[in-house]
Amino acid sequence: MTVTLPMCSVNFMDTTLSVEEQAIADRIQELKEQLGDDLLILGHHYQRDSIVMHADFLGDSFMLSQKAAESDAKYIVFCGVHFMAESADILTSDDQSVVLPNLRAGCSMADMATLAEVEVAWQELLDQSGLSDPISREHPEDVAGEGEAYLVPVTYMNSSADLKDFVGRHGGVVCTSSNAEGVLNWAFERAGPKGAVLFFPDQHLGRNTGLAMGISEDRMPTWTPGFGAMGSLDDARIVLWHGFCSVHKRFTPQQIAEFREQHPDGIVVVHPECPKETVELADAYGSTQYIRNFVNEQPAGASIAIGTEINMVARLAQEHPDKHIECLDEEICPCSTMYMIHPAYLMDVLERLVDGEIPNQIVVPEAVQAGSLLALNRMLAILK
Ligand code: SF4
Repeated sequence: MTVTLPMCSVNFMDTTLSVEEQAIADRIQELKEQLGDDLLILGHHYQRDSIVMHADFLGDSFMLSQKAAESDAKYIVFCGVHFMAESADILTSDDQSVVLPNLRAGCSMADMATLAEVEVAWQELLDQSGLSDPISREHPEDVAGEGEAYLVPVTYMNSSADLKDFVGRHGGVVCTSSNAEGVLNWAFERAGPKGAVLFFPDQHLGRNTGLAMGISEDRMPTWTPGFGAMGSLDDARIVLWHGFCSVHKRFTPQQIAEFREQHPDGIVVVHPECPKETVELADAYGSTQYIRNFVNEQPAGASIAIGTEINMVARLAQEHPDKHIECLDEEICPCSTMYMIHPAYLMDVLERLVDGEIPNQIVVPEAVQAGSLLALNRMLAILK
C-alpha cells in the first residue's frame, strides 16, 4: 500500500511513500516542529525525494553553505556530503552546530586529493617549474608584480577543509562549478603572465574551464601523485590534479550520439565535471544551478537529455511534465555517497537533537579554520 505526502517546505512535487516511509516522514515533521527555529535542514539537489521533502532549502553546495552562513539556527542538519557540512561549519558561528545525518556520506572525488599528497606535489611542482610559492610574500594573495611568476593553488569546493586551509595559506582560493572561470582569472592575476595554477581535485572542471578560456590543452598537464606530470610543465598554465567524479565521468559522446539519433531535435546539457569530449559535443554545459535554469528556459515539447546525477534529473522531469527529460546515461547514475543519507538517519539525528544530544557533529579543527575561511572568503569577494 502507498500513500501520498502533503506538500512540504520545498514545494515542488508529491512523493509516494510506503507505509513505513510515511511513518518516518511523519515523525520527521513532528521533530521539526518541536525543534522549530532552532533547526535548519539543508538538502542538496542530488538527495533522494524522501529527504528533499523535509529540506528548508534545496540547492547546490555553494548556495547551501551561504544559507548556513545567513542562518542563526542553532542546529544545521546538512543532507549532503562531508565536505559540504565542513564548509557550513567554517562559515557559521561557534555557537551553531552542523550535523551530517550519516558520517559515512563522503565524496569519492574529494577523497582523491589528500593534504599529504598535495603537500608533496606542491614541493615537487615548485622544484620542477621554478615558480615561486605565494606564501613567500608578506601578502600571499597580492597580484604578481612585473617579472614575478607564482604557482597559485585553486581548490574546487569538493575538497576537505584541510586542503581549503592549505589553499588559503598559500594565497589561493576556492571555486565552484558556477564561478570557476572568474576564480581562475583572479588566480592568473596573482600568478603573473608566466605563472601557473595548481587546480584540484577535479581535472575535468579545470580542463573544461581552461579550454573555455582559450588555454590550449598542451598548457594543462595532469598531475598524478607518485607519477608526476603527464605533459610538459614548461609554459604550463593550469596543472590539473588527476581527480574526477565517478558519477559525471560516466557520460560519454556515444550516449549523446544515441540520444540525438532517437531525438533529432533534442538538446543535451551536461555538468562540467564530465569529460571534455562529452562537454564539447553537448549543446550546453554548466553547474547544477545552470542546468536547472537551462531546463526552465526550454519551450514546452522540448526533448532534453541531461548529464548529471539521477535524482536531480528525475526531479526536473517531474517539475516539467510538458517536456521530455531523460538522463543521458540509460543505466542511471546515482551518487552512492549522497544516497547514504536515508530518512531513517535524518529521523535519528533529529530525535537525538530533541533529547539534547548533538549527534554526528562536523567540527572543522581550529588549526585549519582560519586558512579555509580565507580561501572561501576570497571566493565570495570575487563573486561580489
Ligand atoms: S556527484 Fe560526484 S562530486 Fe558530487 S558528491 Fe557525488 S561523487 Fe562527489
